Amino acid sequence: MAYDVVIKGGRIYDGSGLPSYFGDVAINGDRIVEVGRINESARRVVNAEGLAVSPGFIDFHTHMDAQLLWDPLATSSCFHGVTTLIPGNCGLSLAPCRAQDRDNVIGSFVRVEAMPSQVLRQAVKWEWTSFPQYLDRLQEKLGVNVAALMGHCAVRQFVMGEESSERAATPAEIAQMKALVREGMKAGAIGFSTNQNRRHMREDGRPIPSRLATDEEIVELASVLGELNCGSMQISRGTLGTARPVEEDVDFFRRLASTSGRPVIWQSIAHRWNAPELWRKLLDLAQDSLASGAPSYPLTNARLFNGRFTLKNAQTFDHLPSWKQVMFAPIEQRAELFSDTERRRQLRFEAVEDQRPTTFSRRWDQIFLIKAAQAKNQPLEGKSVEEIAQSLNKDVIDTFLDIAVEENLETMFQNSGSRDEEATAQILKSPITLVGQSDAGAHLVYHAGYGYATRFLGYWVREKAVMPLEEAIRKLTFMVASVFGLYDRGLIRPGMAADLVLFDPQTVRECEPEMVNDLPGGEKRLIQRAIGVKTTMVNGAILVQDGEHTGAFPGRVLRNHHNGHASL
Ligand SMILES: [Zn+2]
Repeated sequence: MAYDVVIKGGRIYDGSGLPSYFGDVAINGDRIVEVGRINESARRVVNAEGLAVSPGFIDFHTHMDAQLLWDPLATSSCFHGVTTLIPGNCGLSLAPCRAQDRDNVIGSFVRVEAMPSQVLRQAVKWEWTSFPQYLDRLQEKLGVNVAALMGHCAVRQFVMGEESSERAATPAEIAQMKALVREGMKAGAIGFSTNQNRRHMREDGRPIPSRLATDEEIVELASVLGELNCGSMQISRGTLGTARPVEEDVDFFRRLASTSGRPVIWQSIAHRWNAPELWRKLLDLAQDSLASGAPSYPLTNARLFNGRFTLKNAQTFDHLPSWKQVMFAPIEQRAELFSDTERRRQLRFEAVEDQRPTTFSRRWDQIFLIKAAQAKNQPLEGKSVEEIAQSLNKDVIDTFLDIAVEENLETMFQNSGSRDEEATAQILKSPITLVGQSDAGAHLVYHAGYGYATRFLGYWVREKAVMPLEEAIRKLTFMVASVFGLYDRGLIRPGMAADLVLFDPQTVRECEPEMVNDLPGGEKRLIQRAIGVKTTMVNGAILVQDGEHTGAFPGRVLRNHHNGHASL
């Protein structure tokens, strides 16, 4: 037999963005060895007719640090064609960590990433102290590949203990932190992450440690990546434009990239109704920054921000004072408060008439009735509130509140307009934005971002035609691999790792998230399946076929390129 596997008759989207073409891919061991017309025999032939053959997707923004310890398959990411994922984002990682700091390290994950405290405290067994030991623990069993960032909070806590969430570091402490980052990078971390989001606190209400870092401390830590000439840096400073002018933030990202010479991935560009033109300015600033020669890249999200809500749990209206007042009243009083005519006048003013920007879109054509509680209202399902109001010849607020009150506030609505579609399309289309930010592994009961890639391919690329499939694949694969220094991934070429996904471009999409009880201790979380993803292959072995795990665990810890081959 000439080859271990030949994938035959698919259409190859090789990750470069070049036009796709019909061809075969031959694999020996964990490597692609030949691409084109392949006639030699193989131990296994995979029929890919009618399918796109793409490099596996690289989910670069996850918080899977803990989940990987009890779920080495990394569900649900593996069902969406993800073959490599990157934990350790937003300044948070589980290493390095001393025994006395475990509780506080967990406390940051619990609060910032909304993970159940009891699950983490029971399921994380702490078989490590250093970052290298943590990587070795991960390597024991993996379905997908994992390339890990070191988090600033863990590093700071390790050096400064509890004072890490109280004060700036001394030069001696910064030197110790640099030594830890150096140790992590030498063991194969793919970079460093930091977070100055002012809303990010630990479970006990204290700020997460990286918030106390000065800009100089961050520049110093980034300089370690420069000194070693490897690794990338992820940085989050909260919602841009709220703490300081955006020019200052983007300039700081540029400075980090230009002084270290290493790629900086910054968070993020998205449309917001309370600053509806800011995304444009951020894109321009990002372009200027790249034009100056500093490798600093903005990231954005293709995920659906469809807040589903009832008037029992809605947060959609929290920035409208009269709505907030009612939503914070006890549930049993809300129906009456929402029925009051005088109050409705104010509710209508804030949610329809007022022109001042706020976080709510005021787009009632984008608020859909998803599930009625009473049989007689079922014909309204799938219609927007505006559409229903027009058919009844009634005011939108009266329509919305009358139905909700009549159904005891149990009517399920969906806000599909939490981002402006046209602006989001422009951000996704920009050749410089990294598409991701799945947050997989975090916010477990609130949303499921596992399907960011299938969402991007199904909704934005197929239905909305925002870009050719070739360009979309480039953004999900080669671009991410390049920015994060995973130099043997993200392309279909002889010599590259055999991380591949076979999918049907006509049907691929993400499914509705489902609530299950599969966390340790039977706790709840949302999972998400995909449609149209046929085969996910990791390091030459099929991991998922038709949505089912094959039983293989071919994943590895991918170390930075100074640790031999990126995959070894
Ligand atoms: Zn994050």
